[in-house]
Amino acid sequence: GSKSYSFMLRTKNPCGKVSNKLYLAMDDLADEFGIGTLRLTTRQTFQLHGVLKKDLKTVMSTIIRCMGSTLGACGDLNRNVLAPAAPIVKKDYLFAQQTAENIAALLTPQSGFYYDMWVDGERIMSAEPPEVTKARNDNSHGTNFTDCPEPIYGTQFLPRKFKVAVTVPTDNSVDLFTNDVGVVVISDDNGEPQGFNIYVGGGMGRTHRNESTFARLAEPLGYVPKEDILSAVKAIVVTQRENGRRDDRKYSRMKYLISSWGIEKFKSVFEQYHGKKIEPCRELPEWEFKSYLGWHKQGDGGLFCGLHVDSGRIKGTMKKTLREIIEKYNLNVRITPNQNIILCDIRQAWKRPITTALAQCGLLHPRYVDPLNLTAMACPAMPLCPLAITEAERGIPDILKRVRAVFEKVGLKYNESVVIRITGCPNGCARPYMAELGLVGDGPNSYQIWLGGTPNQTSLARTFMNKVKLQDLEKVFEPLFYYWRTRRQSKESFGEFSNRMGFEKLQELVDKWEGP
Ligand code: SF4
Repeated sequence: GSKSYSFMLRTKNPCGKVSNKLYLAMDDLADEFGIGTLRLTTRQTFQLHGVLKKDLKTVMSTIIRCMGSTLGACGDLNRNVLAPAAPIVKKDYLFAQQTAENIAALLTPQSGFYYDMWVDGERIMSAEPPEVTKARNDNSHGTNFTDCPEPIYGTQFLPRKFKVAVTVPTDNSVDLFTNDVGVVVISDDNGEPQGFNIYVGGGMGRTHRNESTFARLAEPLGYVPKEDILSAVKAIVVTQRENGRRDDRKYSRMKYLISSWGIEKFKSVFEQYHGKKIEPCRELPEWEFKSYLGWHKQGDGGLFCGLHVDSGRIKGTMKKTLREIIEKYNLNVRITPNQNIILCDIRQAWKRPITTALAQCGLLHPRYVDPLNLTAMACPAMPLCPLAITEAERGIPDILKRVRAVFEKVGLKYNESVVIRITGCPNGCARPYMAELGLVGDGPNSYQIWLGGTPNQTSLARTFMNKVKLQDLEKVFEPLFYYWRTRRQSKESFGEFSNRMGFEKLQELVDKWEGP
């Protein structure tokens, strides 16, 4: 039917920045050409589902006119570059966001084919800082592609998609270690940015029943002074472009290259392209997951307000209310890597009327949203994603309610929570392999259960059970959460508890379970 001729379209918004004009345009486009909802993604972009082929040109030219390019949102090249979404006016945050934008510009394909194809050759130029142009055209990386319009990608794009995130110490709102490249701003004692720690080789995607595919955390590559960051990123991209596997897409992400070479060999090849040695990573304090929900000061007199959006799906009353507020106060917004939205640049005087408007439609955390929902994520899955084996976004509201009911049954309090992430297939778009409780579709109405991620997103989960039927989830959840409550050490998160107990012991407790 007509379904198969409808498209999904992603925007590209480094740092999740969305101007007032672009938000309003996307809100209109969703109604006119999409399915009437806006989807915020885990890469801080919009997804518009259900666009018909005949409408693609109108939709894309509208987005491009509003400066939210769709270029590079899909395909075998750099995806949207993540950075903390919070509009905090502090040197390190601003520097992280500026660096994310520079890396995005550096890795944007130069050829006009995309625009040419869709917008009849109308070429949209974006101004970029001179250091970006310089770094891109710098041929000292041993790769001088004469007659080639793509100084970084060469005559072929990368073997697979490529993901980059930038952040500041302690702020792991970007799920740093799940990216091909993770970059952390290092500042001196006066808060002045000096350089970056670089981590490489993270990635979530895997294939069921194929142990040679795996989720992987990024590991330290080294530290570079700030003026070297674009050269370093380019050298990493070139290392992967020249050496990543192209014979089998299942193994072509950079994590497989690093895993097979080892970090030392990767580093030495990287250093050849980079043209110098890289220093060891600087020590960092503990990571925290920062949600930015609720009201905060920006640091420049303005306020921002983070709002939780279940599965990133803005629809119904929420969509209407958000539009009214964003339009009335002329607000810019930001999309977080946790599929939430931040309203920015709010004046003190507007706080009260905005709070009232948000509260009226149940949009203000924490009174209206279950703590389980606040950290939960699900990918779109059925019916929107062709790879889905089972439900994720459509199934998660009910699954979270069932987890809450289990919490009550085993005596866990309302303010307690675990990070739950659900995907419809092992590709792992909602990063389930970092969750404390990950559900990964492995059959119709059946899930693989992953345990062992932590609330601050620094440890990789592992498979605990396979093929658990949707209707049987309580049989696993009840014993796990009961023993977490009764046997945890003080303040021990569910993820830490699972790792300390060991999966064998947990399996035994699940198998012998007869009720609390
Ligand atoms: Fe589709 Fe799988 Fe990604 Fe979910 S995880 S959106 S089902 S590819």
